[in-house]
Amino acid sequence: MKITSITAIPVSYRLPEGRTVTMGIGSTLKRDAVIVRVQTSEGLTGYGEAHPGRSPGAIASLIQNTLAPLLVGMKATDVVGAWQRVHRMQLSSHGVGSGAALALSGIDMALWDIRGKAAGMPLYALLGGSRRRLPAYAGGIALGYQPKESLADEAAEYVARGYRALKLRIGDNPRDDIARVLHVRQTLGDEVDILTDANTAYTLADVRRVLPLLEDIRAGWLEEPFACNDFASYREAAAISRLVPIAAGENHYTRFEFAQLLEAGAVKVWQPDLSKCGGITEGLRIAAIASAWRIPIHAHSSATTINHAATMHFLAAIENAGYYEACVSKFNPFRDLFGDIARIGSDGCVQPPEGPGLGIEVNESVFAKYPLIDGPGYVVKF
Ligand SMILES: [Mg+2]
Repeated sequence: MKITSITAIPVSYRLPEGRTVTMGIGSTLKRDAVIVRVQTSEGLTGYGEAHPGRSPGAIASLIQNTLAPLLVGMKATDVVGAWQRVHRMQLSSHGVGSGAALALSGIDMALWDIRGKAAGMPLYALLGGSRRRLPAYAGGIALGYQPKESLADEAAEYVARGYRALKLRIGDNPRDDIARVLHVRQTLGDEVDILTDANTAYTLADVRRVLPLLEDIRAGWLEEPFACNDFASYREAAAISRLVPIAAGENHYTRFEFAQLLEAGAVKVWQPDLSKCGGITEGLRIAAIASAWRIPIHAHSSATTINHAATMHFLAAIENAGYYEACVSKFNPFRDLFGDIARIGSDGCVQPPEGPGLGIEVNESVFAKYPLIDGPGYVVKF
């Protein structure tokens, strides 16, 4: 079974006028995604998702015009060979770094969909896992900066739906962040696991002010206080609190960058995103490295049903799985594009879909509704 074609379909959705969610990386104007379709000589088609990297047209072009010619003609089941070829030809030499990792992620995911379909097995089974229930938290682009009262209302809405964990956006400023987090803890009580994400907007001084409060409210983690490559600050921050671990990984690419995280010794919660880190092949390697150090994998997820399905299969098949990040965003039509697969149970858990491969039916007719919109997905916060 050979790869006969690789196609990238960028899709966009503009948020309704006057509506946005604001967090550490800015205010969201639109959602983008890049769907990857891989076709084979046996008639099997696989789908993957590449993160758009804020420039979906560029990532789609990289997949279709640069990576596809490298891979067409290869055996479709040779995921390791395909990975290595892209890594050697595009990621590590004359490469475009994270852009190539995003593009490769989507192709790799589609190849795993094909492997599952060829074997007649759901991906979690092919990977050696079981269809177990996965604890989920309410995440995605939600619970952004707003008055503490409406934030607590939004949080309570997710708890009422079944979530036992949720992620608050901090990184606004220490005073308002502290007031919001405290109010949500007081409103929700002690049973809910409160996670926090600064989306790289903090300084070390901010972290020194905020971490003691996060200890007081027993936050599950502090995510991405700093830029992904600011290892010195990560090391300093990790020394401040022994109770609240520092989390990162959604902006780290390939096992080589995760190895750097390990060397920094500062990040005890890893959050690779399968549509960014190098796909399922690389996600498994990252999880294996982490397992030897007893580091849990709380995978980051975005934006369409495809990556959400892949993430559930992956978590169901690794030993050190943490939370599944459910997207509770009110402005993401891509999440349910191919079915409502992440239905939360009364136990606060989800389950990977059944059916071969990713276990979802991709209906390509919906793509016409979401043509590519060029321009930034986030702007400096309002
Ligand atoms: Mg994050």
